[in-house]
Amino acid sequence: MTEPFVSAHDSFYIIKDWHEAVPGLVAGFSTKVGGSSLGHFDSLNTGFHVNDRLEDVCANRQMIGGLLSFPAETWIGACQTHGNRIAAVKKSDSGKGALCYDTSFADTDGLYTEDKGILLTLCYADCVPLYFLSRQHERVGTAHAGWKGTVLGIGANMVSQWKQEGIEPEEIEAVIGPSICETCYKVDQRVIDEVRRWTDGSALPYSPAAGESGQFYLSLQKLNEWILIKAGIPKENIRSTKRCTSCSTEFFSHRRDHGKTGRMVGFIGWKERVSS
Ligand SMILES: [Zn+2]
Repeated sequence: MTEPFVSAHDSFYIIKDWHEAVPGLVAGFSTKVGGSSLGHFDSLNTGFHVNDRLEDVCANRQMIGGLLSFPAETWIGACQTHGNRIAAVKKSDSGKGALCYDTSFADTDGLYTEDKGILLTLCYADCVPLYFLSRQHERVGTAHAGWKGTVLGIGANMVSQWKQEGIEPEEIEAVIGPSICETCYKVDQRVIDEVRRWTDGSALPYSPAAGESGQFYLSLQKLNEWILIKAGIPKENIRSTKRCTSCSTEFFSHRRDHGKTGRMVGFIGWKERVSS
C-alpha cells in the first residue's frame, strides 16, 4: 500500500492522492518543524491547552494557514476531551477555536461539513487522526481517536451519523493518519479489556509484551481500521499511514516526551470554488 501522507513542506504532510484527485480538497497533518514556539514546544506547537505562549500558538497557526492558503481565520477547532461527540459545522462557524481556545466547540472530538472555505482542525500528539471523505456528497470529516476515543467508537459514530443523513458507508473513504505505532505503544490490561469489546479474536490489534505480565503492544491504527470496517466502510476504502509520531523526531509525542510537548494539527477542508 502506498503511503497516503506525503511531505509537502517541512511543516506539513498532505494526503497526496486526495489532493490530486479531488479539486479543492486539502487534508493533512503538521510536523513540529518551522514554528515560533520555544522549549518543550519547539517549535510548531498548534495546541492552545498546553501552556505555550498564546502569541506563538497563533503565529504557528497563521503560518500553516498561509502555507495552505487556508487562513487561520477560516479554521474551526474543538476542546477535545477524548470523548466520542461529533459536531456538524458550517461556514458560519468559521474562526471558532482558530485563534482563541475559548470559542472552540466544547467537548468535541469529531467535526464534519459539506461547506466550502472552512478548515476542520484537531490537535494531536500520538492520538490517531481519522479523515473521512464522501466525494459524491462533497462532505469531509475528521476525528481525534486516542485509545479512549477509539474504544468509545468515535470512528463508528462518524459513519453512523453520516448514514443517518443519507450517506452510505460504501461511499465513504477513510485515511488513518500519523500517530503512535504499535512498537512504541505499550498499554496495560485495563486498556486491552476495553479493546476486546471491539475485536472478535481473529485479527487482534495487540500482542503481549514479552516477559511483562499484563503489558501489551497495541496498534490503534489496526483497531481503528477494524472499527471502521465493522461500521460498514469497505476495507479497500481505508488506508493507513506508516508514520509514527513517537518514532519520528519531526513530530511531538506525548509518550516519548513524557507529556511535556506540543501538538500537531490535523486538518481537512474544501477550498471555495473560484467562479470563472
Ligand atoms: Zn513508533
